[in-house]
Amino acid sequence: MNTANFPEKIREYLIPKPEGKLVFRCLNCQSVYNTDELFYTCPKCGEVLLIYDENFDRLKNTPSALWHDVFDYRKMLNIKALKGIYRYYEFLGSMIPLDSIIYLGEGHTPVIEANSYMQNIAQIRFFFKNDGQNPSASFKDRGMASAFSYINFLIKKGKFKNILAICASTGDTSAAAALYASYIGDAVKSAVLLPYKKVTPQQLLQPLGSGAKVFEIPGLFDDCMKVVENLSKNYNVALLNSKNAWRILGQESYSYEIAQEFNYNLKNKVVVIPIGNAGNITAVMNGFIKFYEAGIIDNLPKIIGVQSEHADPVYRYYAESDPVKRRFIPLKARASVAQAAMIGNPVSMPRVIHLEALYNKLAGKQKVFFVQTSEQDIIDWQLMANRNGHIACTHGGETLAGLVKAKKEKIVNETETAIIDSTAHALKFSVFTDTYFQNNFSKEFEITPKSELCNAPILIEPSTAAENRFEEFVKDISDKIAANLKLKKKQFYT
Ligand SMILES: *Cc1c(COP(=O)(O)O)cnc(C)c1O
Ligand SMILES: [Zn+2]
Repeated sequence: MNTANFPEKIREYLIPKPEGKLVFRCLNCQSVYNTDELFYTCPKCGEVLLIYDENFDRLKNTPSALWHDVFDYRKMLNIKALKGIYRYYEFLGSMIPLDSIIYLGEGHTPVIEANSYMQNIAQIRFFFKNDGQNPSASFKDRGMASAFSYINFLIKKGKFKNILAICASTGDTSAAAALYASYIGDAVKSAVLLPYKKVTPQQLLQPLGSGAKVFEIPGLFDDCMKVVENLSKNYNVALLNSKNAWRILGQESYSYEIAQEFNYNLKNKVVVIPIGNAGNITAVMNGFIKFYEAGIIDNLPKIIGVQSEHADPVYRYYAESDPVKRRFIPLKARASVAQAAMIGNPVSMPRVIHLEALYNKLAGKQKVFFVQTSEQDIIDWQLMANRNGHIACTHGGETLAGLVKAKKEKIVNETETAIIDSTAHALKFSVFTDTYFQNNFSKEFEITPKSELCNAPILIEPSTAAENRFEEFVKDISDKIAANLKLKKKQFYT
């Protein structure tokens, strides 16, 4: 819709202006740094950073009802820069001019109510938010849209001529980074580091297809992460992991979309997130906090972070109920079908510790919880979801398994409604479905297929006599399929 056709009171708010004053703030020593430079950690103390808007308080002056209208009306705008995550521009990168924003179709992913069969067995009302319907088929695109819009802005300002964008990945970060880098063109080259044989064939082909340099490294993600950290410390490269606070900022859009989808009423809502490097749960907590502080939502939803038994350092940290006694202990991740979350030493742990405390404090009670699931439950719930109209990947299975576990542990009850994050598309992780169907998991996965969830193709071969004659071939094959399906023959009346 043309801006002239919007209601008068909305018009001046429709197209946002770059009025934010964004800074990096160290969560440890509170040092503040200008966002003209690319920082990943605090130059003083080495801790991770988050981006804050020093002009944030101006956003509190806009009445919440007006904010609701602005976001709702922006849905109808045909302005490319505002079609994706930047519908919530004021809360994301509100210093980036609109003409620097990269939009590849990310964000506004569907929120799909689970069918009644699924809700019955889970014994709670719930929705999948299908973040696998982002351009590179995972939620990582949200953070990349943010980080690359910022890089694009710096390039346009003449800060850089050539940038090498580099990341370590469990598969989806690299797919997203390579995609966005390739869109910008010559000014940005992309290199990705992957743990050898620890990403799926689809995930390996994504950055290759985008033309990135792909390095495979023996070991796990945590090893690749150490290498890129070392590279970004010693060489002139742009680090695109969620250590980069711009990634977190973009991923906050997930929370804003949930708020808008439920008409800004988040009472009795529960948001379930799988945890790997812990960037996503950081972003989701921070997003809700910002909307809450601006008065756009009246309630902070419950948040449940889910980890597999095979990679559960965050869960273990919070398993100690006394905050004073909590100790973070990195561990060596074991084989997991939730492979994108197979991380033993999450980079965002200090952010989680900071925001979990703040979130609960703002809510006035405990609202952030952590649960742990088995590998068996993760894949069984994924396959069950797939059999009921949902495109959940293994991590979607993990959040669903986590929701069911939380229900058992009475962290949630049947009066609540859950929104569970299906972080990637099922097709990216279809090798695990195949391995399940073929009963081929190595022992370390601890997964035994359930026959009722398995499936296999049936090869129908023609009888030799029919091979060369097409009509006979069609009849022969049809008869065999009909027999297999026990079809009843049509009655013809003359
Ligand atoms: C990256 C990723 C995760 C884990 O998210 P973190 O931000 O690393 O905690 C979960 N699921 C999928 C599909 C991912 O790509
Ligand atoms: Zn510091």
